[in-house]
Amino acid sequence: MTQPDVATPTLPNSLWAATAAPAISTPPLVGERRADVAIIGGGFTGLSAALHLAEAGAEVVLLEQAEPGWGASGRNGGQVIPGFKLDPDELIRRFGLERGRRLIEFSAGTVDLVFGLIEKHGIDCHGARQGWIQAAHGAAAMAAMERRAAQWQRHGAPVELADATRIEALTGSLGYVGGMVDPRGATLQPLSYARGLARAAQNAGAAIHGGSPATELARDGAAWRVATPKGAVLAGQVLICTNGYTGGLWPRLAATVIPVYSYQIATRPLSDNLRRSILPEGHASSDTRRLLQYYRLDHMGRLLVGGRGLFRDTEDPRFYQHVVAGLKGLYPRLGTPELEFYWCGKVALTTDHMPHLHELAPGVTAALGYNGRGVAMATAVGRMIAERARGRALDDLPLPASPLRPIPFHGLRQPAIGAIGLWRRLLDRLESRAA
Ligand SMILES: Cc1cc2nc3c(=O)[nH]c(=O)nc-3n(C[C@H](O)[C@H](O)[C@H](O)COP(=O)(O)OP(=O)(O)OC[C@H]3O[C@@H](n4cnc5c(N)ncnc54)[C@H](O)[C@@H]3O)c2cc1C
Repeated sequence: MTQPDVATPTLPNSLWAATAAPAISTPPLVGERRADVAIIGGGFTGLSAALHLAEAGAEVVLLEQAEPGWGASGRNGGQVIPGFKLDPDELIRRFGLERGRRLIEFSAGTVDLVFGLIEKHGIDCHGARQGWIQAAHGAAAMAAMERRAAQWQRHGAPVELADATRIEALTGSLGYVGGMVDPRGATLQPLSYARGLARAAQNAGAAIHGGSPATELARDGAAWRVATPKGAVLAGQVLICTNGYTGGLWPRLAATVIPVYSYQIATRPLSDNLRRSILPEGHASSDTRRLLQYYRLDHMGRLLVGGRGLFRDTEDPRFYQHVVAGLKGLYPRLGTPELEFYWCGKVALTTDHMPHLHELAPGVTAALGYNGRGVAMATAVGRMIAERARGRALDDLPLPASPLRPIPFHGLRQPAIGAIGLWRRLLDRLESRAA
């Protein structure tokens, strides 16, 4: 009996889907073929790996269950932020001086890598390097910001501290006690960037198949066989790049990250008058709340605001009311703004706040867990695992490989995180009031 076709997931009705550069043709894989490297997942990690491998002359097949950029990569805030979630001193404390320094250097260069690719491949994605603001919502957060800025400055990064007046001028929002301005940060249209990477990878010779979920991964002699509904790839190396959308392809991999939804809303383009006072210099901004809010303008002057969502993949405005309340809190002068888009996507959290690199078996590598900061980092990690697939020594990579460590009681995570979320929201409110 033939299996009925499973419908290919479609893009959410997001701002990015409505305004992106056209998609390239990525027909499903039909039949069996061989490759040097099979890549599973067509977000920034997989696409960057495919591009760098194809440019190095490897035969690459990328399998994506939907279309390139369908996951977090085509739905995010488009804030291109250097660094890990952990501060430089913490990296050195955890990983030692030598490895810590390599991690700092690696993470500091991620935005340059993104913009180098945009330039090299002529990717039309409204990339703009206007800087990133981390705005402090209370005194303790500002003290942390002072430490962060001092640490980055010691490593030669051009970050600056800003007082409340300066942050108010740059964001147009009252109520922050100060913050950090990082001129390395940037914004882009993330779905256009993903599609641009896909086009560049295809031009370099990579085969990219949409509508091709990897359903089975198993040894086949000296190779690995990755099966899809209508075909299979036999490859010596497999890269699993599925992040918050990781399923059951490799046992226990999904249990190493906590997938949580991030929700975003976008207004209609603001008037010129409002644009003169809201993020007037084009910065991207995230704040320091435990349940952080991130916001920016798009190239047409729409205001986008994002924050933590419920455990529900929905575009129903009723479930976005906390994000709308956040927007009104940031900019009360907008009144009740007319909203054009509501959409969400899954980020993958790790308990140590670092992305993870796993060598699951000889020839099978996975990289995931960007903790909501993956536009630049996933691009860089994709390049890194491409180098690994080409034989670069494991010890030579900036990110250390770690064994699979499923999170205890992973199945109970959703109610627990919901409760933690409420608690964190309460603490954020108390600290903001005290400031
Ligand atoms: C709403 C939102 C806002 C965000 N904002 C920012 C931001 O402003 N700045 C920032 O730096 N980061 C942000 N992030 C995080 C960032 O988007 C991610 O870290 C990054 O895109 C991860 O890329 P990825 O390629 O690893 O995963 P993804 O882009 O999620 O791609 C994984 C892909 O794997 C595919 N897949 C899964 N299983 C299979 C299978 N079996 N077979 C084939 N394909 C499969 C999925 O369809 C998906 O396309 C945000 C994320 C979200 C969701």
